[in-house]
Amino acid sequence: MQVLVLNSGSSSIKYRLFEDHVDGLLLRARGLVERIGESTGRAEQVVIAHDGTTSEEVDDAPIPDHAAGFRWIVSRLEDAGLADDLGAIGHRVVHGGSEFTAPTVIDEAVIARIEDQVPLAPLHNPANLTGIEVARELRPDLTNVAVFDTAFHGTLPPAAYRYAVPDRLLAEQGVRRYGFHGTSHAYVARRAAAALGRPEEELKLVTLHLGNGASAAAVDGGRSVETSMGLSPLEGLVMGTRSGDLDPAVIFHLIREAGMSPAEVERVLNRESGLLGLCGDNDLRTIEERAAGGDEAAQLALDVYVHRIRKYLGAYAAVLGRLDAVVFTAGVGENSDTLRAAICADLEVLGVRLDAARNDGLRASKAPDGIAAVHADDSEVAVLVVATDEEREIAEQTLLAVRS
Ligand code: ADP
Repeated sequence: MQVLVLNSGSSSIKYRLFEDHVDGLLLRARGLVERIGESTGRAEQVVIAHDGTTSEEVDDAPIPDHAAGFRWIVSRLEDAGLADDLGAIGHRVVHGGSEFTAPTVIDEAVIARIEDQVPLAPLHNPANLTGIEVARELRPDLTNVAVFDTAFHGTLPPAAYRYAVPDRLLAEQGVRRYGFHGTSHAYVARRAAAALGRPEEELKLVTLHLGNGASAAAVDGGRSVETSMGLSPLEGLVMGTRSGDLDPAVIFHLIREAGMSPAEVERVLNRESGLLGLCGDNDLRTIEERAAGGDEAAQLALDVYVHRIRKYLGAYAAVLGRLDAVVFTAGVGENSDTLRAAICADLEVLGVRLDAARNDGLRASKAPDGIAAVHADDSEVAVLVVATDEEREIAEQTLLAVRS
C-alpha cells in the first residue's frame, strides 16, 4: 500500500508519497505545487527509485485552485506508476483544539469538528480543510486521515496548559495553551530514545524544534508535559518573523497609543517581528554571516534568539526535575553548529557539555540515519542532533489510524 501525505497551505500543497514496505516506510516521491491561483504556477515532483536514483519534473503552467493542484499531483504519481496501490491520504492539520489528541479518520462529522477549531487557527486550518475537501471529492475511494500539530501536546497537565485567566475564557473561547510542531517533537523524541538505546518511558528530554517557526517541548517518558507555543504558534521562542513571548500589555499599548487595529498588531507580531523585526533578515544563515562580519543588529538578533532558548532550557529542566538529553532539530537546530554552541555554552549548571569537535560542521542530514551526538564524553546530559521528518511521522500515524 502507498500513503500520500499532504500539507496544504493557502497557495501551496506540499506532498510526499511513501510505500509501506517490509523494511518500513520508503519515500518514493516528494513534490510541491505552489503559486496556486496566480498567473504562473509552479509544480515539481521528484521520484525516488528503489535503487535510490531520482528523476525530477518541473511544470510552470498556471494552477487555478487546490483541486487542480491535487489533480496534478495524482496524475504525476500515476505517470510514475506510484498510484496503483494508493490506500490512504494523511493530512497535516495545524490545530486540533482540545478535540483531537490522536490521528483521526476523516468523515463529515470530523470535518465539522475541524471547522469548529478555525477560530483558534484562522491562519492555518482553512487551507488544511481545503486540502481535505478536494482529496475527498476527487478520490472518494481513499481513506483520509487528519494528523494534528497539537495532538502530541494533548498530555500537557492543567498546570502547564492553563493561562491564569477566568474559567469562562477557557469554557467559552477555548483560551488555553495547545502547543504545535507536535509531530516533529514526537518523532525526534522517539528517535533520540532509540539512539540512546533506552526506553522512551524512562527518559526526560527537551526537544528544540528550531526552524522558521520554533518551539521547545519538555518530554517526560514519551509524553509532552510542557511546550513553548500556546493558544497559537505565536507564543514562546523568537522565530523568523514571530515575536514569541511578550507582555500582553504591548498589544493594548499599540492599539491605544499608536492607533493600530487588532489586525495590524496581529500582522506585526506574526510577520514583521522575531529575527526579521530585530535585524531586517529572517534567514538565519544570512544573519550569521552578517554577525560574523561585525553587524551589530544581526548580533543582537542572535543574542535575543539564543537567550530565549536558554531561558526555556533552564525552565524545562526544572519542570522535568532531571534532564537526560537535549535534542536539536529543524533547519537551524540541524544545521547551525554556531547556534548550538551558543545555546549550550556554560550550561554546566544543567549538566550539559558540548564537544566542540563533534559539533563543528555537523549537519543532521549528513549524519548516518540523520542522527548524531555532539556532547562531551563527560557530559551528564546527552546533546543530540536529529533530522526531523514530519511527513514520515504523518504517514506512520495515518497507517496506525487506518489499521485501528
Ligand atoms: P520551516 O519552519 O519553514 O520548515 P526550516 O526547518 O526549513 O523551516 O528552517 C528554516 C531555517 O533554518 C532558516 O532560518 C534557515 O536559515 C535555517 N537554516 C537552514 N540551513 C542552515 C544552515 N546551514 N545554517 C544555519 N541555518 C540554516
